[in-house]
Amino acid sequence: MVELTRAQEERARRLHCEAVVVDTHCDTLMQFMPPSYDQPPARRLGERSERGHLDLPRMVEGGVDCQTFAMYTGRREGQPDALLVANQMADVFYREMEANAGGIVPVTTTTEIVAAKDVGKRSGLLAIEGAEPLMGDLGVLRNFYRLGVRMLSFTWNWRTPFADGIAADRAESRLPDLGVKAMDEMDRLGIVLDVSHMSDTCFWDVTDVKKGAFIASHSNSRLVCDHKRNLTDDMIRALADHGGVMGMNFAPAFVAKEGATVEKLVDHIDHIVRIVGPDYVGLGSDFDGIGAPPVGLEDVSKMPNITRELVRRGYEDEDIVKILGGNHLRVFGQVLK
Ligand SMILES: [Zn+2]
Repeated sequence: MVELTRAQEERARRLHCEAVVVDTHCDTLMQFMPPSYDQPPARRLGERSERGHLDLPRMVEGGVDCQTFAMYTGRREGQPDALLVANQMADVFYREMEANAGGIVPVTTTTEIVAAKDVGKRSGLLAIEGAEPLMGDLGVLRNFYRLGVRMLSFTWNWRTPFADGIAADRAESRLPDLGVKAMDEMDRLGIVLDVSHMSDTCFWDVTDVKKGAFIASHSNSRLVCDHKRNLTDDMIRALADHGGVMGMNFAPAFVAKEGATVEKLVDHIDHIVRIVGPDYVGLGSDFDGIGAPPVGLEDVSKMPNITRELVRRGYEDEDIVKILGGNHLRVFGQVLK
């Protein structure tokens, strides 16, 4: 990390504290799942660990206010126990939230996120990554809404009844009718659509039919780092046209061809701001779902290094607050009821 002047350090600290810092993706729930009935989970939310990337003590150190916790259940369509695993993960989410109620609360609206910060608490938003647990059924989608799910991606790389992922991309691939129906139902209920992991062709179908904003919870710029999980400039412009936001992913392969660092991550923010302005980019670390994170972003406690780098590069206060979470709060405010 490049040195900052004392005034820059103070400005970075103040902005990071003032901002509602939002991270739209982590895979930490898997760490809280017991491997079997008679074994304890690998980690607990309330215990500071040297392993992995995210727990409540390190969220506090890193000044992250609202963390999306994704339920990721399976790699391929027809995963027979995906519905069971998602139910178990939702239970684990609430168990960990209840065990740490003095420091973090489950939330379903922007008002609740801001209210939690106002009383010095963190918040957790429940999401589904990959629609396998829905088993192609909108009734199951509605029940997950009742369980508190407020963000959904239709695919984790493979084909589901709702969309094709990047590993199932075909020239003729189109968003199925069920994906269109699910988007309408999500608009009605108030669930944020997340297009990270979706095939390019299905992404373009979404932009054709989607009313209002959607997000790419953990995807970077494909021009800065050529990877299918990142978005092309045209895709970024389309996402911005819809008023959406993309959360910057810390996975080293999505950040840089080699030698991922916090500076190289901020290069993605620079590029996105250059082409569409400061209103469409945020954070989506993918902590506990990635290998070794970039230098300077080793775990969630290092999140302030992004703010420091934005200050060093001369970003305005207002834009830094938007990038740290204001942009995501805008979309949550529009979609969540
Ligand atoms: Zn992912």
